[in-house]
Amino acid sequence: MKYRIVIAGGGTAGITVAARLLRARRDLAGHIAIVEPSDVHYYQPLWTLVGTGLVPRDVTVRPQAPLIPKGATWIRDAVETFLPEENRIVLTSGESIRYDVLIVAVGLKLDWDQVPGTREAIEAGVAGSNYTFDTVLKTWEGIRRLEEGVGLFTFPHTPIKCAGAPQKIMYLADDRLRQRGVRSRVTLRYVAATPSIYSVPKYAATLEKVARERRIETVYRHTLTAVDPIKREATFRNLESGETVAMRFDFLHIVPPMTAPDVVRESPLADAAGWVDVDKHTLQHTRFPNVFALGDVANVPTSKTGAAIRKQAPVLVENVLQFLRGEPLTARYNGYSSCPFVTGIGRLVLAEFGYDGEIMESFPFDQAEERFSMYVLKKDLLPVIYWNGMLKGVL
Ligand code: FAD
Repeated sequence: MKYRIVIAGGGTAGITVAARLLRARRDLAGHIAIVEPSDVHYYQPLWTLVGTGLVPRDVTVRPQAPLIPKGATWIRDAVETFLPEENRIVLTSGESIRYDVLIVAVGLKLDWDQVPGTREAIEAGVAGSNYTFDTVLKTWEGIRRLEEGVGLFTFPHTPIKCAGAPQKIMYLADDRLRQRGVRSRVTLRYVAATPSIYSVPKYAATLEKVARERRIETVYRHTLTAVDPIKREATFRNLESGETVAMRFDFLHIVPPMTAPDVVRESPLADAAGWVDVDKHTLQHTRFPNVFALGDVANVPTSKTGAAIRKQAPVLVENVLQFLRGEPLTARYNGYSSCPFVTGIGRLVLAEFGYDGEIMESFPFDQAEERFSMYVLKKDLLPVIYWNGMLKGVL
């Protein structure tokens, strides 16, 4: 089998790019393949609100088939091996596909096994995680049941997708506990591997204030290393002293460590940390010029979000088309990413920034302030823009 363009992964990035390529060049119809094993597609950003019962889980999942743009061939399989020196990939079925251009968009891997006890704690109903469709309702169950004691919210030592999500859930939990009149009986604690509440100082100032005012304790430079679901004890490593610290909990929100998928880490496409090694402006691979990558799997030094993909996709598409024409690549990605920090029910701080934390706000007001309008944007408008605009290649 041979296609002009093969897209590995049909998640946010893969579908967006396929739709844009076909809009830009109708003659590519029949020459683009998307390799994607899953028959469903998730809108992950809403899991933050599902985890506190504000949105039903079912609205975050749709069948994959109607999302595959007309003109693209869906190969329902997974890439088993990348062979960029031979311009081909091998699928789990054993089939081999050759390409002129490869676009890698396989997302990232949630590495639960790095932290023993996490799966068991979720199974036992003492922990939850907003990071998967299968575990997000456990978060809501746990928060609903919490009457007293300690709620812990973790952030691991690896890069993660949506670096705001680990704390959004605790602000919403705080509101839910207040609504039930039990907040004074519960200690809420954010235990993060990061050195501060957020990497962009402008928004960090607001978030620190929110955490302080809502009496949420913060502990930095600590990473979760084990969970004992029976004793309800979480063990952390102090990343500065190396010491082990145990904390008892009554509810635990787990954000697992994240890595590039094994198929990428073990391939010639990977950088030293395992992510696909691309030029941060052109999104072209640094060693294989006919390979491009975007989304969570790319090693671009910015926050891994769907919002980042919305800005990466048009750049990547323009550069791929230039590459196919044998022209120099002129489109540049500026590192734009965004994090809609839900700071409570009906409140949101919309962080928008580029490489090196450069502020890149879209609205003519101070986005570091909590706003109801931005909450409506996240809850009601962005999902519509996602399904009907971004995935169709128009927004
Ligand atoms: P994905 O969308 O995860 O897609 C990767 C695809 O690759 C999957 O479909 C997978 O099946 C497929 N795949 C995997 N391995 C293979 C293989 N070997 N071969 C072929 N296919 C493969 N972003 C925002 O912009 N705003 C937010 O508010 C926000 N909040 C979030 C909250 C939570 C709780 C979470 C979990 C994420 C949030 N995000 C947010 C992040 C956003 O959802 C991701 O950054 C985005 O979906 C990444 O897109 P992707 O295409 O790189 O990966």
